[in-house]
Amino acid sequence: MTAAVEARARAEFDVEIRAETSPLTQEERRRALRDFDIVIPTLGDAFDAATFADVPEPRCRLLANFGVGFNHIDVAAAKAAGIAVSNTPGAVTDATADIAMTLMLMTARRAGEGERLVRSGAWQGWHPTQMLGLHLTGKHVGIVGFGRIGEAIARRCHYGFAMEVSYLARSNKTPDFPVTRANSLVELAASVDVLVLAVPGGAETRHLITAEVLGAMRSTALLINIARGEVVDEAALIAALEQGQIAGAGLDVYEFEPNVPEALRQMDQVTLLPHLGTATEEVRSDMGQLALDNVAAFVAGQPLVTPV
Ligand code: NAP
Repeated sequence: MTAAVEARARAEFDVEIRAETSPLTQEERRRALRDFDIVIPTLGDAFDAATFADVPEPRCRLLANFGVGFNHIDVAAAKAAGIAVSNTPGAVTDATADIAMTLMLMTARRAGEGERLVRSGAWQGWHPTQMLGLHLTGKHVGIVGFGRIGEAIARRCHYGFAMEVSYLARSNKTPDFPVTRANSLVELAASVDVLVLAVPGGAETRHLITAEVLGAMRSTALLINIARGEVVDEAALIAALEQGQIAGAGLDVYEFEPNVPEALRQMDQVTLLPHLGTATEEVRSDMGQLALDNVAAFVAGQPLVTPV
């Protein structure tokens, strides 16, 4: 937790804060359910059905997740065990959209590759055909998942880069700028210069991006993933990049995070970030405060602020 969040947690509650930054071990997850009234878990803390089954009479009554994504929690199993779940939507939206734009620009304009060239000392100087990339302004972007973050990315693309925006979601969207709803993922993939993923993770969206979807994309197109790694069949993505079926990818998340395949690390046309979506002091504090707002509401017997 940031200092501001830790200070509030200590002031308002009887709190134990875990210092390690690695995900909870199975025994720690069991202890969390067994010994605490409320737990604030985060990404990677696998509260799966087996964990709830291991602790038949949990003391825990609320998992106030730190993060909007909760695909690491089996929400149905939690509720069956009498444990409520909340998350931190909204606090993360702009920062994550900004990282999507960072990845789009870095990948389109070969910024990572260029930076490595300068750092290596091998740069020979400017010339008219050096490191030509993809011009982003005015291009067509396709956004898969048009919720809070998807719309914030679309807004940046429309107003900042005069891009045409198409999207795929389960329901129809009417933002205050022009967008077109795609009929299918393959149709969207085939029609855009940049395909951006902004859906939640979980069983429903696992491997949404298959070899077929990648095969439908233009050979000049880019794939950007700020959602969850499991949304992409990573082996199929590597094959599509190796075979030149798509021109590049910008990734903030990975299927087997934090393991990033050697093949991806070797490719210059791929931008790789270490899950930076919400990584600013202000945003992490806002997320922590919202998690604590849920805890405070729960303790006071009020409805959760942002229930899952
Ligand atoms: P959100 O507001 O719930 O939006 C999710 C969108 O995905 C909605 O438009 C939803 O459609 C759509 N969707 C869900 N399932 C779908 C499916 N099977 N096919 C097509 N569209 C589907 O969530 P959000 O706040 O934008 O966050 C999205 C995700 O981003 C989070 O769940 C999290 O995993 C990820 N994230 C990553 C980072 C990072 O650090 N990289 C940071 C924050 C969040 P409807 O609107 O029609 O329901």
